[in-house]
Amino acid sequence: MDDTPVGLRPVSSAVTPSYVIAIDGPSGAGKSSTSRGVADRLGLRYLDTGAMFRALTWAVLEAGVDVTDADAVAAYAATPLLVSGTDPLEPTIEVDGVDVAEAIRGAAVTAGVSQVSAVPAVRTRLLEMQRAIIRLGSIVVVGRDIGSVGAREAQVKVSRTADAQARAARRAAEEGGADVAATRASLLRRDRVDSARSAAPLTMPEGATHIDTTDFTLEEVIAQVVALAEAAEAAS
Ligand code: C5P
Repeated sequence: MDDTPVGLRPVSSAVTPSYVIAIDGPSGAGKSSTSRGVADRLGLRYLDTGAMFRALTWAVLEAGVDVTDADAVAAYAATPLLVSGTDPLEPTIEVDGVDVAEAIRGAAVTAGVSQVSAVPAVRTRLLEMQRAIIRLGSIVVVGRDIGSVGAREAQVKVSRTADAQARAARRAAEEGGADVAATRASLLRRDRVDSARSAAPLTMPEGATHIDTTDFTLEEVIAQVVALAEAAEAAS
């Protein structure tokens, strides 16, 4: 059995080890499953920036800070220590040594994360952390503004969408059979807040390839992104 750590595996394609792939899009567009699949296929690391915003939101809630009080959130934002593990087969996220991978998917965090991530001090701090991880290269990074802010230099940028019903069905299944209508309402509410905020609104990064995943399987989308990466590499 190959027990080489994932981040050190030789790449399985023509893609060079310093490669950065940025995948942006709204919740439920299947970004994280695709990104993990692409990273695994190409022997790259994986970073879910949404999980970082969720982890900070979890910390804000744990500390009893009001998520609607932007000044209080900004004052607290530098306090918790976040650590993101980048193995695509086993991504981890810790706050002050506590494993929060499961807790950050809960309803309270989901309800508060758009407000917390609209606070400029939060974005500045998490962007610095993301840049430190991205700078090392060999990574697939997933989020809302990665191709335009966190990794403008990425060799491949993908902007993913899917129709609201497909996104809600996927997200509800990921949450172990949650109500699809309620999940859809929650996704659309977050889309509105994420798109309207003045700090880093959800937009399509310049140079990104748009993929509408509504009618494609996970494997098909992974293959499309891998093909984009290999084509970009061949052209460079
Ligand atoms: O992708 P996910 O649904 O886990 O993201 C949670 C929230 O984190 C988003 O609704 C958005 O408010 C925020 N986010 C962000 N910038 C990113 C990634 C996520 O503002 N790069």
